[in-house]
Amino acid sequence: MLADAVIGADGYRSVVRRAISPDAPYARYAGYLVWRGLVNEQELARPISWPSDGGLWIDFVQGYRLVAAVLPGQDGSMEIGRRQVTFAWFDAHRDVLLRATNRLTPEGYLMGTLGRRSIDKDIRSELLSMIPSLWPDVWAAAVTLGVQSTTSLSGAPIAEYLPERLVSGPLAIVGDAAHVVSPMTGSGFATGVDDAALLSRALAKRRHDESMAAALLRYENARLPYTRALVAHSRQLSAQYVNHASGVDLVQENYHAPRTTL
Ligand SMILES: Cc1cc2nc3c(=O)[nH]c(=O)nc-3n(C[C@H](O)[C@H](O)[C@H](O)COP(=O)(O)OP(=O)(O)OC[C@H]3O[C@@H](n4cnc5c(N)ncnc54)[C@H](O)[C@@H]3O)c2cc1C
Repeated sequence: MLADAVIGADGYRSVVRRAISPDAPYARYAGYLVWRGLVNEQELARPISWPSDGGLWIDFVQGYRLVAAVLPGQDGSMEIGRRQVTFAWFDAHRDVLLRATNRLTPEGYLMGTLGRRSIDKDIRSELLSMIPSLWPDVWAAAVTLGVQSTTSLSGAPIAEYLPERLVSGPLAIVGDAAHVVSPMTGSGFATGVDDAALLSRALAKRRHDESMAAALLRYENARLPYTRALVAHSRQLSAQYVNHASGVDLVQENYHAPRTTL
């Protein structure tokens, strides 16, 4: 059976995007990666001294950035001692590693992430040795456990993609397939959801004499300006971060709430 349309929601390395924009098929590396970990509070010697409603901790120290928070435990509990701890450690010094592992092309395109099992002992040791001088006591034990764990730590190089088009004939893209932004925008997921809502509206309003390509083009016209502006904003945030990170000690920003004790 022939399809009337193909909608690509296939992420930052989208195959459908390659068909829509063969001249610009890949997302570019934004200049930093994020070490991510998730650990059970029960596995720590002491619970985290951070309240369940404490929101995000965001620190910028010596060119590295830490975002950390407590989440419900695997059973949904927000009881102190039974929660999970998540962290994202931004690191702008991993170009060599990404090139050596074929995640980053010489042209600056991103081809993959560092999965949990592809982070070797030397990298873990290096990260572990940095923790005492970078991260505060409140998160240090959780970050240490996350870095040590071969089932927790992963490395997500951050990509950006500025779209020229979202549609070609009966093909369309949504979400990261269409545009990729830094997590510093806090908007990647929600923008993909909005894309899907706008696309479904464009299709629902399709007149019986209107071609599929014309209906998809209405989606592109409605969506492209916003997504391009968002990617431009993302590029600014990334450039600011990478500049700060390469001029170590230029900036020390703390956004977190006052420390609290249990
Ligand atoms: C470190 C990090 C932190 C982030 N933090 C935030 C945040 O705080 N807030 C926020 O809003 N966003 C955040 N994001 C961005 C957010 O994760 C993405 O914008 C969102 O996941 C994109 O959703 P998506 O469905 O478009 O793509 P994905 O989530 O990438 O899903 C694509 C799916 O397509 C599948 N797929 C790929 N290729 C094919 C194929 N050929 N055939 C079939 N299936 C295929 C994949 O397996 C995957 O399941 C973050 C991203 C990163 C990397």
